[in-house]
Amino acid sequence: MSIGVETVRVVDCSHHYDNAMPLMEGIAPPDFTDFATVVRDGYAMSRYAFTNHTGTHIDAPAHQIDGGATLDEIPLSRLVTEAVVFDCRSVDPGPVALHDISDRVDEIRPNDLALFCSGNDRNWGTDAYWRAWCYPGAEASTALIDRGVSGVGFDGPSADPVDSVTYELHRIWLGAGRVILENLRSLTELPGRCRIVCAPLKVRKANGGPVRVLALVDEAEGTGVEQDPARATAGASHPGGAS
Ligand SMILES: [Zn+2]
Repeated sequence: MSIGVETVRVVDCSHHYDNAMPLMEGIAPPDFTDFATVVRDGYAMSRYAFTNHTGTHIDAPAHQIDGGATLDEIPLSRLVTEAVVFDCRSVDPGPVALHDISDRVDEIRPNDLALFCSGNDRNWGTDAYWRAWCYPGAEASTALIDRGVSGVGFDGPSADPVDSVTYELHRIWLGAGRVILENLRSLTELPGRCRIVCAPLKVRKANGGPVRVLALVDEAEGTGVEQDPARATAGASHPGGAS
């Protein structure tokens, strides 16, 4: 029996927070200040001030729904789960129609997070960033919610166009008690399905906040080494390895 070694590649799907981070229009700039340094004070400490819905962050239902669940009320099993990744790089930016994802809807399992990959993280820090991403339109969103997804995420700034004043899609998702992950990165490195860990700041009664999103991608590597001593024959490795 040839055994491959299963390895896990961890993909960091969160952007850095810093004073130069891109912000949606109208959002006050953050302030990350070191008020003590090791050289001067013997220890380093910093003060952070930022709007919670900036950078890679998560929207809890309470963000737009009166009485909706706050971030600290969302069960962790909803946030440490599996992701289904829709590759939208060949689709025009904007709302994705149900027929664009219908061939993969049957793959979706209850509690999956549905992630939409546009490759828009390459535009982070440019004007194009605020327009060049895909998100599910109303019909696709409702279909995903009906399949029982835990939430939705994308490598763009919002579930709605940035100039929306009605937040129709936010209300569909948050009104159904689901979460929204915004400003993700590196979704292009993910396969169609992977495990995912979303770890938000634990702020009491938060309507949203920064989230470290880590995707765990299983990668089976053939070792080229025969593992079964009973069959110590060279050349019997399986390049695909075990899964
Ligand atoms: Zn938000």
